[in-house]
Amino acid sequence: MLFSAKGDIMPREITADIERLFRRIDTRRDDLVKLTQDLIRFPTVNPPGDAYEACARFLGARLDARGARVDYVRGKGEPDDTDLHPRLNVVGRFEGGLPGPCVHFNGHIDVVEAGLGWTLPPFEGVVKDGRVYGRGACDMKGGIASAIIAMESLLDEGLLTRGAIEFSGTVDEESGGFGGVGHLARNGWFDKGRVDHVIIPEPLNPDRVCLGHRGVWWAEVEITGQIGHGAMPFLGVSAIRGMGDFLTLIEKELVPALETRRTRMPCVPEGARQATLNLNSIHGGQPEPFDGLPAPVVADRCRLVLDRRYLIEEPLEGVKGEIVALLDRVKAARAGLDYSVREIMTFAPTMTEPDAPVVAALDEWIDNLFGRPAEHVASPGTYDQKHITRFGAVRDCVAYGPGILDLAHQPDEWVGIEDMVLSTKVMAAATLTLLRRETSRA
Ligand SMILES: [Zn+2]
Repeated sequence: MLFSAKGDIMPREITADIERLFRRIDTRRDDLVKLTQDLIRFPTVNPPGDAYEACARFLGARLDARGARVDYVRGKGEPDDTDLHPRLNVVGRFEGGLPGPCVHFNGHIDVVEAGLGWTLPPFEGVVKDGRVYGRGACDMKGGIASAIIAMESLLDEGLLTRGAIEFSGTVDEESGGFGGVGHLARNGWFDKGRVDHVIIPEPLNPDRVCLGHRGVWWAEVEITGQIGHGAMPFLGVSAIRGMGDFLTLIEKELVPALETRRTRMPCVPEGARQATLNLNSIHGGQPEPFDGLPAPVVADRCRLVLDRRYLIEEPLEGVKGEIVALLDRVKAARAGLDYSVREIMTFAPTMTEPDAPVVAALDEWIDNLFGRPAEHVASPGTYDQKHITRFGAVRDCVAYGPGILDLAHQPDEWVGIEDMVLSTKVMAAATLTLLRRETSRA
């Protein structure tokens, strides 16, 4: 076995239990499909955050029926939380009785809008050719259903004897997760002693484990000049020309420098294994939209929004500092120019080490069920892992779940039923491995 040499995972001793567990999951196939359909039928579109409460209460009732302690946690005071669209999260916890670690599954219940181009109804959960179709089928209601069936199968087989298993259904992942996992993490739900290992069943393909994600720094740069008559531009100071200087420095110096910075994180696609910068939007001069006659003035302001994705090897201060250094050079080159930088949003990069317990446990059962080693990946963009590792105290956190990443947010989104069954088995068996580890918390 892959990790038996380490001495802390002993698959042979639990083979009989695992066989029972896998047989149980095979018999739950129809329930797995039904639960996925039920979840898709809540149109939890974000924005604005429709049907959150109904979906959270549906999940809570299901967990409650199996004897979980269920809490509803509203992201009060968080962005977009209103009485019309409450940011309602649900947490359910099953205790094993004996002391041991807690394995937590977290899934976001929100989905992006359906958009155009569907050939099937997006909120009905149509089953066709071994797939369940609908908005959120792969991102990530199929993953939530798989995690719940994994937990229920462990309970059905009487395999939760020590430690605890926990599930949270959270909101707003698609818009930053502040009212969802961010709120839970800042309020103690991922503290030491509560949760030890976290699996987020995002659609990463059922034979891959996602260790983490790059960081992001969103900022708005404003360059200011001096207004003047457009017929005598030499009497003004053009903020647009200043921005042009800045863009030239970005193209000639910063972008080539970023391309040389490689990360040890296994980001997919391959192009994301370096630092990147996207110029999100730019505006200078006369206000937009504009359909009249232009006023003959020199533009005295120009704004640029930057989306900088940074690596775990890059300190955030350096990320900011190199932008400021370029702007200082732009300012020094033209009298009368100035600049300001407004930080919009920052999320730190995060990565769980490839030999961490949750990774080893998932690897072992992927290898067992797929007959090949698990692939380790990292995400180019962020997801809720940042909140758990940054505001919470859980370092042993990964994304692992059914579904094909490329289908997320697409029309005719689907999740494969066989993929769900396989990843349900991986999640259930990995949970058992983690609950039985000798190194568990006392
Ligand atoms: Zn997702």
